[in-house]
Order: sequence, then structure tokens, then C-alpha cells
Amino acid sequence: MKIIKSKHKLQNEILNIKNISFIPTMGGLHKGHISLIKKSKNLKGKTLVSIFVNPKQFNNKNDFLKYPRNLKKDLIILKRLNVDYIYLPNFKDIYSFRVKNKIFLDKFSKKLCGKSRKGHFKGVLNIVNRFLLLIKPKYILLGVKDFQQSYLITKHILKRKINTKVINCKTIREKNGVAYSTRNKNLTNNQFKVASKVIKYLRNNKKLIRKDLTNFKSTRIKKDLKNFGVTKIDYIELYNSKSLKRPKNKKENFRIFIAFYLNKTRLIDNI
Ligand code: AMP
Repeated sequence: MKIIKSKHKLQNEILNIKNISFIPTMGGLHKGHISLIKKSKNLKGKTLVSIFVNPKQFNNKNDFLKYPRNLKKDLIILKRLNVDYIYLPNFKDIYSFRVKNKIFLDKFSKKLCGKSRKGHFKGVLNIVNRFLLLIKPKYILLGVKDFQQSYLITKHILKRKINTKVINCKTIREKNGVAYSTRNKNLTNNQFKVASKVIKYLRNNKKLIRKDLTNFKSTRIKKDLKNFGVTKIDYIELYNSKSLKRPKNKKENFRIFIAFYLNKTRLIDNI
């Protein structure tokens, strides 16, 4: 496992490697990240994991400062998984070069998290675009847990004709249904239980919506979730998973998208 902290060293190291699978992360690694890495290890080629808590994608300074970090533990996990390269840039390393590709922000960036986190997706695409230019990976592995993020990265890659294929990976969950997330480390035991109730409620609700779309009543759902102990709900919306339009027919393939707060911790999911 090679740990690399500068883009020049990184580029020297991977210059002639054409089959890199890349997994961008913000560290605080958990079973969700591990599933992406294992999937990458099953592809032929080298695996490169980056860890960088990207300040540009945080719309709230306190959220950035409180984001859970544990590099020592992350490196132990990555070593155990036998990852080939770890890229650990600092702010200057990753932001001090000019990019020839302008980022492309699809109109879906204005929905869901785009409404409640101003500038978030611009920040995400800025950093991912830089990583793609430096690394030129054959594959980038992304989690469907961050569905909107993965969708927007895919759109950017297609629009800018970047020679990297997106591999979407399913959401890995705790036994109680809550999706693994680095932010879960900021939850109290009680908040973790509330998060579980939210997911179970949404799963049940999805079954009802499958029978009849009018069973999706966001005002009612918001009220119920607040009764469980949810502090605030940024959005709860239904979209067709392919067209990203509102489903008109119960047979469509749709997802419930949610962003909610447990005290100051914001969680997102899609069911
Ligand atoms: P993050 O470190 O939160 O930026 O996440 C890095 C990558 O891991 C992103 O592609 C996420 O979508 C993915 N990821 C995060 N949580 C999960 C999860 N529970 N299951 C699968 N993938 C995940």
C-alpha cells in the first residue's frame, strides 16, 4: 500500500497504469466504503482510494469542523484491504492547479440537496473533476446512498467526455436499517434508534405507495417523523429513479428521497 500526499508524486506513481479503479472518500471509513473497495478489488487492475474532507462542499463551517475524522483507523482498514494507492491531498495540493474542464452541473443539481445545501454540488463536482483529471481512472465507484451525487457526477463525465466509467454500488445498511454513514458517529444511541424508525417507516410507506401513489402524503409523513423525534426535514420527495420525474404510475421504478436532521446531524437516504 502506497500512501501519497502530493499530486506530482501521485502522477509519477500511476503514470503508466491504465486500469485504475478510483474510490473518492472523505474518510471515517465504514462498511459502506469497504463494500466499494471490495468491489474495486474484484475488478482487474489497481485500486486507488482518496481521503479528503473537501471544505468546498460544506455549506456550513461548523458541519465541516464537526465532520468525523479518523485517519489512523482508516489507514489500518485500507492496509487490511490491501488497497494499492491512498491519495491524501491537502487543500493546496488539490486546488492549486488550473483545470481545463469546466464542471457541468445538470439541472437536477437544483433539486433535493441542491435546494437545502447551496453550493454543495458545485463543490463536489469541483473536487471530483480534479481527481479525474489527475488520476484518469478507468472506473470510479460511487454509492447509490448519495444517489443525486452519483447522478450528477455521471452527467458531468458524459458531458465532458471523460474516459471513466461510473460503477454504482448499492447502499450498505446496519442491521436496524440505517445506512452506514460517517455522520452516524455523531449520533447518540437514542438518535440512532430514531433514524432506524425513520427507515422502517419509509420502507412501509413505500409498500403502500406501490399499491397506490396517492399514499405518498409528505405532510403526513413529516408529522409522523417529527413525532419519532426527527428535528427537521429538509425534503421528502418521490422521483422515478431513471427519469427523475415525479412518478405517475405505481408500477414505475421510484425512490423516496429524504434529508433529515437529528439535532444537528443531517442524514440523507433513499429507499
Ligand atoms: P463519503 O466518504 O461519505 O463521501 O462517501 C464516499 C463514497 O462512499 C460515496 O460514493 C458514497 O456514496 C459511498 N457510501 C457512503 N455510505 C455508503 C453506504 N452506506 N453504502 C454504500 N456506499 C456508501
